[in-house]
Amino acid sequence: MSQRDAVVIGSGIAGMAAAIRLAIQGFRVQVFERNAHPGGKLSLIEKDGFRFDAGPSLFTQPYHLTELFEMAGVPVDSYFRFQNVPLSCKYFFENGKRVHAWTNPEALDREMQEQLGERPGSVIRYLEESKRLYESIGTIFLNHSLHQLGTWLQRSVLNALKVVKWPYLMGTLDQWNRKAFQTDEAVQLFNRFATYNGSNPYQTPGMMSLIPHLELNEGTFYPQGGMISITNALYQLALQKGVEFHFNQPVERILYEKNAIQGVIVQGDTVRADVVVSNADVYFTYQHLLQETVKAKKIIKQERSCSGLIFYWGMNREFPDLHLHNIFFSDSYKEEFQNIFKLGTLHQDPTVYINITSKMEADQAPPGKENWFILVNAPSNQGQDWDVLRKELRARILQKLSRILNTDVEAAIETESFLDPILIESRTGSYMGSLYGTSSNSKMAAFLRHANYSSSYKGLYFCGGSVHPGGGIPLCFKSAKLVGDLVQKDFQKR
Ligand SMILES: Cc1cc2nc3c(=O)[nH]c(=O)nc-3n(C[C@H](O)[C@H](O)[C@H](O)COP(=O)(O)OP(=O)(O)OC[C@H]3O[C@@H](n4cnc5c(N)ncnc54)[C@H](O)[C@@H]3O)c2cc1C
Repeated sequence: MSQRDAVVIGSGIAGMAAAIRLAIQGFRVQVFERNAHPGGKLSLIEKDGFRFDAGPSLFTQPYHLTELFEMAGVPVDSYFRFQNVPLSCKYFFENGKRVHAWTNPEALDREMQEQLGERPGSVIRYLEESKRLYESIGTIFLNHSLHQLGTWLQRSVLNALKVVKWPYLMGTLDQWNRKAFQTDEAVQLFNRFATYNGSNPYQTPGMMSLIPHLELNEGTFYPQGGMISITNALYQLALQKGVEFHFNQPVERILYEKNAIQGVIVQGDTVRADVVVSNADVYFTYQHLLQETVKAKKIIKQERSCSGLIFYWGMNREFPDLHLHNIFFSDSYKEEFQNIFKLGTLHQDPTVYINITSKMEADQAPPGKENWFILVNAPSNQGQDWDVLRKELRARILQKLSRILNTDVEAAIETESFLDPILIESRTGSYMGSLYGTSSNSKMAAFLRHANYSSSYKGLYFCGGSVHPGGGIPLCFKSAKLVGDLVQKDFQKR
């Protein structure tokens, strides 16, 4: 039998993971990428001796990456090393309270009792329930195609659905957390997990209480060399499996005939393929690559996840009070989300996230200095004046950090750059600059996210943060696995 051809549109992490899976299945795989480099949102900024991960900074579930190396028969150590980070985040509250979030339920339970006055055992019970939820319902929703009848007829799926409790679906994450904890700070800390898929804790269902399991039970990890090492490892493994990459070559159209995929058009030339996998945002895939405006319009009816305003500050000194991950909470969290999702603007007291990889590896910044990645959740781009919003936000961040850390933070900034929703869209092709595709703010969001295959065109598949099961590194890897499995099944039949 002659070798079959696959084209992957985009070299985000899901695109590269899908390319590796198809190459292992025996496809001849070509990846076409608009940018000059692989990785999409997971890329690197280097400036004046400082290294900054441009996008994601939190790494959980490393087995999604190591599994690809195992499947390919390549020792993972040759390309990728990572270490466990026992402190997932240091939290700063406006009332002066501070919490070290240990990735150990007993230690975190003690910490929340001592620092917040939380009831003994409440964290342990919460995380046990979070684990149970993830391992029963979560794995069904995340590891299966929700769009195929066969999924719902499996005995394991039917059994898992029996444990679905009413508040998981009908109540919000905030309501779920208020029942679990007695202090406002503990509720706020656990509400924050809604932002891991760009959602609003006051709208997203209680089901999202499964997210803390990934971080606080399973643990957080740091890739040696920073998050960019994930991109580099995938790229090297793909090359080793024979995948061909074409950079600076955007795909212009997806070709089909009688509803069967024929290939793509790149720079006016036709590239034939039996399988096309789009890692580009699903809205742009329909709007531009398939020119199906009706379908594209249906997709944009779903609310987008939040975006972000990001500052990359090279700091001329060290801040011993800070760790790898740090959160400075807003004092009015609910209003902050109302501003982001309802009013399309920023709150005057923003929640500020700071990631500093030089805390883990000194060579991420010049000696004695630190590389600060600062992220504030922002609305997706709806035409706001981002220059004005960014300048106002910068001043508020500096005021907040300087007050809480009791030092002049601005005086320590040596070098600076930024990212906003417009740049996120133009650099990574993410519609409206959203970080995680569509939001999970409705009960039906998981079912409305686009499937990993096309029901109209045989041979067309979708992976990445804008399709099932959603955004964030672990889910992007899962989408690539779903695509790999679907392709294998579809092509075994032929
Ligand atoms: C600032 C920020 C912070 C984040 N923080 C975290 C975090 O801490 N943890 C976490 O897990 N996740 C985080 N995320 C989300 C995470 O980065 C994404 O979910 C994930 O990287 C998306 O990967 P993807 O495979 O969907 O591809 P993307 O990264 O979206 O890449 C898609 C690629 O397709 C290319 N492309 C688009 N159209 C075409 C075309 N027509 N032809 C050719 N190529 C095309 C683009 O150039 C791009 O390279 C963050 C994201 C951002 C931006």
